[in-house]
Amino acid sequence: MVLHKCDVCFTSFRYGDVLKSILLGYKPLTCSKCSVELKVTIASRVLTSVLTILIPLIVAFNIASEPIYQVAIFLLFGFGVSFFLPFIIRYSSRSPLK
Ligand SMILES: [Zn+2]
Repeated sequence: MVLHKCDVCFTSFRYGDVLKSILLGYKPLTCSKCSVELKVTIASRVLTSVLTILIPLIVAFNIASEPIYQVAIFLLFGFGVSFFLPFIIRYSSRSPLK
């Protein structure tokens, strides 16, 4: 698994910086070498929602029948997936809305 690299100078971002960006509501990353600001792509936001909400919901409702276990599985699965997001999520120096 490879962490995202800067669009401009191809410097790799650190795992902790990317995870922090995700946990702070997709805060833009700033490259430590060329200072360019990178924003999360729309496709990555959609993928993140599917991986942390939709798939854990489907798994929880298929594995457990008791609501308390469904909630526990949903939270554990969603929390566990979050640690893999820095390897999946993609950033772009171009505005995602342009
Ligand atoms: Zn850079």
